[in-house]
Amino acid sequence: MLTAAAVKQYAKAAGADLCGIANIERFEGAPAQMDPRFIFPEARSAIIIGRRIPRGVYRGIEEGTHWSNYTFYGYNRLNSLFMPKAQYETACFVEDHGFEAVPVYPGVSEVQPHSPPVRAGQPGPDVYPQMRIAAMAAGLGEIGWSKVFLSREFGPRQRLCMILTDAELEPDPLVEPNSICNLCMACVDECPGHCIPHIREGKVVEIQIEGVTYRWADVHMGRCTLTHHGLNKEASPFLAKDCPGLRMDVSEQECSEEEAYKLTHSVGRADWRRTPEFPTGHVIDYAWTMLHGVGYYAVCGARGCIRACMMSNGPAGEPDRRFHNEFRKRPMWTLSPEGVPGVEE
Ligand code: SF4
Ligand code: SF4
Repeated sequence: MLTAAAVKQYAKAAGADLCGIANIERFEGAPAQMDPRFIFPEARSAIIIGRRIPRGVYRGIEEGTHWSNYTFYGYNRLNSLFMPKAQYETACFVEDHGFEAVPVYPGVSEVQPHSPPVRAGQPGPDVYPQMRIAAMAAGLGEIGWSKVFLSREFGPRQRLCMILTDAELEPDPLVEPNSICNLCMACVDECPGHCIPHIREGKVVEIQIEGVTYRWADVHMGRCTLTHHGLNKEASPFLAKDCPGLRMDVSEQECSEEEAYKLTHSVGRADWRRTPEFPTGHVIDYAWTMLHGVGYYAVCGARGCIRACMMSNGPAGEPDRRFHNEFRKRPMWTLSPEGVPGVEE
């Protein structure tokens, strides 16, 4: 017999740091385009696997001296290589017991272009469950005010993926709302994208899972994406180098997430003629190198939503207080909206 305990034990042996289980009914109310039941209508359980983001992958950005290890080990390869290995092997383990297991590709449900359905009565061919909500449904933690997922084990430092199965597995209990995020607003204060509203602004997203209400900030994803992908001089020293005269205060931008992706990725991949002023032939050297080499680039280093949160005083900061020393050891570097360096008071 396949049990929840056996699945979790196997997943952890295969490399997972976290593994939780949701009964499929917990997805009741999900928008069709995010509802895992449209991927596997016979699914009875969703297995959510998490792998930690090592604290050390933020070190280079924290010191202002090395950016790429976060993109590689904390983002792209963590999502596309290290984590799917545990996900794939656990799916095979479930199928060895005679149950179907669907490892779900972690697409970003909010920004997929939606195509028409191929069969009446169902959404189009681009259904992507929201992994953070799925992880809440599997009792692994809660979405914090910053919209980043928080667990007791790693605070804001993990990536997540899903396996759907028709095996009926014992679900994990839901986490009590705000038992990990204590609404300290450290993420708001430190976000260089100025995109996480303060709680007093009243901009809130609210969902219910089996009658339990979870709330988090309605984050301005256009500004976050511009910053995350380096079109914000407050976060990116590379933009200041390659576009020294550009003045674009990200806090005044009203673009959508998709618009910000379109801009950042097309500019990041772009070539331009070589001139004495810009001899490399790339519009933004760093973005070009990462996008052509890794296929992704993360420039902000989650200064507010992850780094400030992991250094916060509440339960979200508890995993980092178990280290033998504090993460931040020197006054934090800053860049002005014009890209001029300074330090935080
Ligand atoms: S820093 Fe973390 S714990 Fe504090 S409000 Fe933001 S998400 Fe919640
Ligand atoms: S990735 Fe950067 S810009 Fe986006 S919410 Fe986090 S700290 Fe703010």
